[in-house]
Amino acid sequence: MRIIIIGAGVVGVTSAYYLQRAGCQVTVLEHHPAPAQETSFANAGQISPGYAAPWAAPGVPLKAMKWLMQTHGPLRVRPKGDAFQWEWMAKMLANCTEAAYQRNKNRMVPLAEYSRDQLKLLRAETSIQYEGRSLGTLQIFRKAGQLENGRRDADLLSKMGVANELLDTDGIVKVEPALSHIADQLVGALRLPNDETGDCQLFTQQLAKLAEQTGVVFRYGVDVLGLPHKNGEVTAVHISGETLHADAVVVAAGCASRQLGQLLGLELPVYPVKGYSITVPLDHPDAAPRSTVMDETYKIALTRFDNRLRVGGMAEVAGYDKVIDPKRVATLKMVARDLFPRAGDLNQATPWTGLRPMTPDGTPIIGATPIRNLWLNTGHGTLGWTMACGSAKVLADLICGSTPEISTAALNMSRYQ
Ligand SMILES: Cc1cc2nc3c(=O)[nH]c(=O)nc-3n(C[C@H](O)[C@H](O)[C@H](O)COP(=O)(O)OP(=O)(O)OC[C@H]3O[C@@H](n4cnc5c(N)ncnc54)[C@H](O)[C@@H]3O)c2cc1C
Repeated sequence: MRIIIIGAGVVGVTSAYYLQRAGCQVTVLEHHPAPAQETSFANAGQISPGYAAPWAAPGVPLKAMKWLMQTHGPLRVRPKGDAFQWEWMAKMLANCTEAAYQRNKNRMVPLAEYSRDQLKLLRAETSIQYEGRSLGTLQIFRKAGQLENGRRDADLLSKMGVANELLDTDGIVKVEPALSHIADQLVGALRLPNDETGDCQLFTQQLAKLAEQTGVVFRYGVDVLGLPHKNGEVTAVHISGETLHADAVVVAAGCASRQLGQLLGLELPVYPVKGYSITVPLDHPDAAPRSTVMDETYKIALTRFDNRLRVGGMAEVAGYDKVIDPKRVATLKMVARDLFPRAGDLNQATPWTGLRPMTPDGTPIIGATPIRNLWLNTGHGTLGWTMACGSAKVLADLICGSTPEISTAALNMSRYQ
């Protein structure tokens, strides 16, 4: 079967790998001259099924009001005057009920856990290197109320069979010794021992190389301009000056998936939620985290790569704008300085911003569409690196007529119809 995949982010490249492995003839079309140049470029590096939860949760509307007032708060909303922004926020608010939260989490956790397991298999098969670590992640609490919420999360995770442990300050310092200088300001932490970390861009680029060696064709610097269709079936892809024919087309175009869907009359509720990161070269690795430390107060994750520290977070509902706001970078630096003051020189930090392709219910959109031969693998929001391998594997199974190993019924776009 000839497959065209639009997009060479982590989701498109993993899709290419699994489809090629299933026996398909795969071509990937990518606007940029290399893989992982958009949202998969410099994310926070967490492969974290333990945190696989929708942002739309009970209590979030109230918290959001508070965050919007704070200088270093994790959320900003900039009204853009377009209907899509308001519709998307309204749908997200509608998902903030207990019932919707449970439903959405029950869709996300199995996919994220499956994805982590697929990544382990992929690692064993390919020996791919991406500065990965399997040391778990640690969410640190500065206030009693946060610890209380952490306890509730821990109960929920245990019910879902996800390993976790609540730590006191001694436990925190044992897991992350570089936090000892600030331990007296912490009230506890939730550790997820099976979570992993790694550089998503490096992974995507290495996997693209492996896929290319086994026959996947990557065409870079190519824009998909049209998706010709006839009688409810997509038949080809238009790029500049060329029409490429395929038996199936996969949209894995991150935040641009919505515009591609619109070419065929599909309204995908994938909104660009802006985030920021800085990457700091390490001067004193012993003063840096061993894995990911997630500061619950600022909702900022600090992840250790080999000789670098990645600090990422923030959410701005502000359209497709990718201007770097120095105030947001200052917040990331403030948290890095507070938690790991000796790790590296923050003047050497490289700032970055990216747009998370986010659905209002937090769950990605994977599977068939009402247009025959058009498939989606998009909308992974905050968890695209965490869910990439699992999403790509189930997509390959669905396209090739195999039964996926996890339930996919609630993952496709019919849930919005
Ligand atoms: C600050 C921040 C921190 C994050 N931290 C984490 C984390 O710790 N863990 C985690 O799991 N996730 C994290 N994420 C989310 C994760 O990075 C994303 O979900 C993921 O990168 C999305 O991958 P993607 O392949 O869908 O999109 P992208 O990486 O954006 O790839 C889409 C590709 O499609 C191409 N494209 C689009 N339209 C066209 C067209 N018409 N023609 C040709 N090419 C096209 C684009 O050029 C792009 O390369 C974070 C995100 C941000 C912003």
